Amino acid sequence: MDADPAAQDAIERTLAAADEVLRRHTSDAGGTCWGCRDVWGRLAPYPCQQAKWAMAVRAAYGGDERPVS
Ligand SMILES: [Zn+2]
Repeated sequence: MDADPAAQDAIERTLAAADEVLRRHTSDAGGTCWGCRDVWGRLAPYPCQQAKWAMAVRAAYGGDERPVS
């Protein structure tokens, strides 16, 4: 199955965004999302909405398992 190059590029960029979110949004010692507190000054239990989105993206597109081209 040939992937549409534009669609493949969109997936790559989405995965990159998800990786960035996961780097930022990590749990502190108390189970609060560090990224949400740092970016918005908001106390959110981890995993926050952003982290959940990023995890869903990785689950859907296989963040670590890149498609063989
Ligand atoms: Zn967060």
